[in-house]
Amino acid sequence: MTAPYINGQTIETDPASRTAVLNPANGKTVASVFMAKPEHMTRAIDAAYAVKDLWGNTTPSERELILIRAADILESMRAEVVELLIDEGGATFGKSQFEVSYVVGVLRSAAGECRRIMGNTIPCDTPGRFSMAIRRPLGVVGGIAPFNFPLILATKKVAFALAAGNTFVLKPSEETSLIGLKIAEIFDKAGLPPGVLNVVTGDGPTLGEAMYSDPRVKAVLFTGSTAVGRQIAVECAKRGKKFDLEMGGKSPLLVMKDADLKYAVDTATFGLFIHQGQICMAGSRVIVDESVYEKFLDLFVAKVKTLKVGDPHDPHTVIGPLIRASQCPFIASRIDAAKASGARVLCGGTYDGNFFQPTVIADVTETMAVFQEELFGPVCSVIKAKDVDDAIRLANNSRYGLTSAVITNDLQVAMRCAMELETGSVHINGSTIHDEPHGPFSGVKDSGPGREGGQWSMDELTQLKWVTIQRGQAHYPF
Ligand code: NAD
Repeated sequence: MTAPYINGQTIETDPASRTAVLNPANGKTVASVFMAKPEHMTRAIDAAYAVKDLWGNTTPSERELILIRAADILESMRAEVVELLIDEGGATFGKSQFEVSYVVGVLRSAAGECRRIMGNTIPCDTPGRFSMAIRRPLGVVGGIAPFNFPLILATKKVAFALAAGNTFVLKPSEETSLIGLKIAEIFDKAGLPPGVLNVVTGDGPTLGEAMYSDPRVKAVLFTGSTAVGRQIAVECAKRGKKFDLEMGGKSPLLVMKDADLKYAVDTATFGLFIHQGQICMAGSRVIVDESVYEKFLDLFVAKVKTLKVGDPHDPHTVIGPLIRASQCPFIASRIDAAKASGARVLCGGTYDGNFFQPTVIADVTETMAVFQEELFGPVCSVIKAKDVDDAIRLANNSRYGLTSAVITNDLQVAMRCAMELETGSVHINGSTIHDEPHGPFSGVKDSGPGREGGQWSMDELTQLKWVTIQRGQAHYPF
């Protein structure tokens, strides 16, 4: 598919409105995709609205079956989807395999949620009255997804929304439209009725406005940059619409003085360099206790220098291309500014086309842009901390609050970090990058608010409704 999928069909397209999708690794055209206009978004919402009651009244087992089938279909299409993630998104072979496996899990996890949409019975002070809270679908839900994990971040929204009985309109990133359309193809093959899922490809601001300004869309789920997310929040709030935002990050990994340094280095390397650092959860600030700082740096730089940069199809490649070449001079300018302020670039720092060399910068301080700004590239800032208090203070000195991690076997330190780090999740003796389909993924500060995954998605994607039933007749005072 290379054109919007609306009401179970790809729409007629005008060749003049097509844009080439370029492979970020070699600049070759992968396909040309139709850039939809606002009226196509409206048609998609018409389709989703027309079947919202039909889908909202399906039984849990009907929805579960389609989600399980979609998981099996994706598994059977693994090789093709992996190729597309590499060619369109610039993902490495390993990252693409991971992404497909994760999404099979998302679809199965969402299938399981269909039978667990629970309400409550509530004690009632009125004689003869029975009181309960039930959950109902919201109706039409809109989703806007980013480029970096295009299959995961779109399917996570779609799958749980459908499981909750909502119909859906998806706007994938214009950089990964083909993956968005692949999701439509998978659900189409799984037997999802026409109109329940619609995918509209094209420009973010134009289609986003058509989505959130339509009163029939009851909630907008967004993953992407903080600047865009904040705009969407304002537009939704003006219209009394629900929104869920998963936004940027500058996640800290804390390496405490008792850490096993080899493990800390492996964790830091995975936690930053997977997908060339283009991950919201990337551990882009590594905060190291001063007693082990130099030793950590030696081991870290030695490991980072071994990371293979190049063809993302090669299973040994760790660093593939960035999604767009313009990201490289932006990242380089931030590194130059850090150098000018006294930071040391221990490896990398250069680029060629879309390929940025894996970079480690030491002696980073709080006022530098490489400490504060999301770079979305393979650049790790290493910061020296005086002690545990200082490490936690440095970690919290950020506008972002997505994830954090700490390497320590000191229970007291681990528990302090769990309680005091201002992030949506804290991973002790793990990487800042950790997500599971049924986990409560969320961010605070400029990374949120949002909550995605398993039962937490189901809570967000249903309306809690209070229902009471009077046995016999109630008595009124007048
Ligand atoms: P982006 O904000 O540029 O784009 C995200 C989506 O928003 C795209 O589909 C785009 O077309 C759309 N968009 C752009 N302007 C819009 C507007 N005015 N109205 C409506 N939609 C609009 O982000 P990106 O470059 O695709 O992705 C990178 C960003 O996403 C990073 O900041 C990263 O941290 C963040 N991200 C966050 C998470 C998370 O779970 N917190 C996960 C992945 C990525």
